[in-house]
Amino acid sequence: MDLQTIIQIDQENYMNTFGARTPVCLTHGEGVKVYDTEGKAYMDFFAGIAVNSLGHGHPALVKAVTEQASKLIHCSNLYYNEPQAKLAAEINKLAGGGHKVFFANSGAEANEAAIKLARAYFNKKGMPEKNEIITMHHSFHGRTVTTVTATAQPKYQKYFTPLTPGFSYVEPNDTAALEAAVSDNTCAIMLELIQGESGVHPMEAAFLQKVKEICKEKNVLLIVDEVQTGIGRTGSMFAWEQFDVKPDIFTLAKALGGGVPIGAACAKEDVAAAFAPGDHGTTFGGNPLACAAGLAVLSTIKEEGLLENASRVGSYFKQELEEKLGDTVTEIRGKGLMIGIELKAPVAAQIKNRLFEEGYLVGNVGANTLRVLPPLILTQEQVDGFVDTLTKLVKEEQA
Ligand SMILES: *Cc1c(COP(=O)(O)O)cnc(C)c1O
Repeated sequence: MDLQTIIQIDQENYMNTFGARTPVCLTHGEGVKVYDTEGKAYMDFFAGIAVNSLGHGHPALVKAVTEQASKLIHCSNLYYNEPQAKLAAEINKLAGGGHKVFFANSGAEANEAAIKLARAYFNKKGMPEKNEIITMHHSFHGRTVTTVTATAQPKYQKYFTPLTPGFSYVEPNDTAALEAAVSDNTCAIMLELIQGESGVHPMEAAFLQKVKEICKEKNVLLIVDEVQTGIGRTGSMFAWEQFDVKPDIFTLAKALGGGVPIGAACAKEDVAAAFAPGDHGTTFGGNPLACAAGLAVLSTIKEEGLLENASRVGSYFKQELEEKLGDTVTEIRGKGLMIGIELKAPVAAQIKNRLFEEGYLVGNVGANTLRVLPPLILTQEQVDGFVDTLTKLVKEEQA
């Protein structure tokens, strides 16, 4: 089918939630490259929004998924399945032990589980009024009614009122605002260590120190949303390892299945114990196919040294961007291969489109920021090619 026909069928039949998409239909990929219906290749520096961390068509992932699909794709959670047990054990081990895991199908669902668990935890201790959750302005936690309530951005909330009660918001890194917002009824503080969707903004160490103090003094749970930062994106398996925090609950999704939908809520054992049989559940979550994909992703990250690669190539990437882009940028933010490039001129959308014409996929946030989330298999040579092209385009656009 040709591109125009596909676009026409889509526009007639698919809800218009994504507006006019980039006019390309992707068909297959290999490594960092992805191809369209016309056979044109693109270097994927967005990885399906931090999902395809092994790149496209990684042999280990393809093998695990095809083998599992030929055996058993789904069985209900009324029965045990081996990939699920093994993946839960693997995540617990990577988190240092003492955790339990619940599998969902997406980031939003993983966060829903985290929110329900935090409320159940205090409810079952006889404190049902301790149910309020503080989240950060400019955050992103998902699109269900409750996670969109947690997402403190009016543009995502405005048509969906009434929102879920019990949420309040503070400006990230505003210690005084956080202190003022906490009360005896606060049950959790929920945050991303690097806010991804709003343009790659890391939390400051002093603020996180205050968060830790408040959680301890006021008996408040810390929920860290690692849906985007988790599974190696920032150069460590979980970003909380680098930010020196130990969340009571953390959530995963995007990269965990390498493209097969899966989410996870991981909690310290005493917190996890708040879920009793029947309190929470899912039909698809943690099915053998998704968990086999998750196991392949984790073992490949280990075997190919991808944490080290993300950290090394990520540092090189930032350094090259700073050097080559010079004073055309306000700031380069992020860790590992989660990078935000804030341009001085409001030309991010134009640059994104021109990069697309040159065969590079990236994202933009607002008028000034480009978002780069390449697969963790990225090489320095691939960084060089990208930085050269970007530098040329930024200079042309600002000339
Ligand atoms: C993408 C994202 C989500 C939502 O994940 P979905 O799978 O789209 O529901 C939640 N939190 C963060 C930090 C994200 O980046």
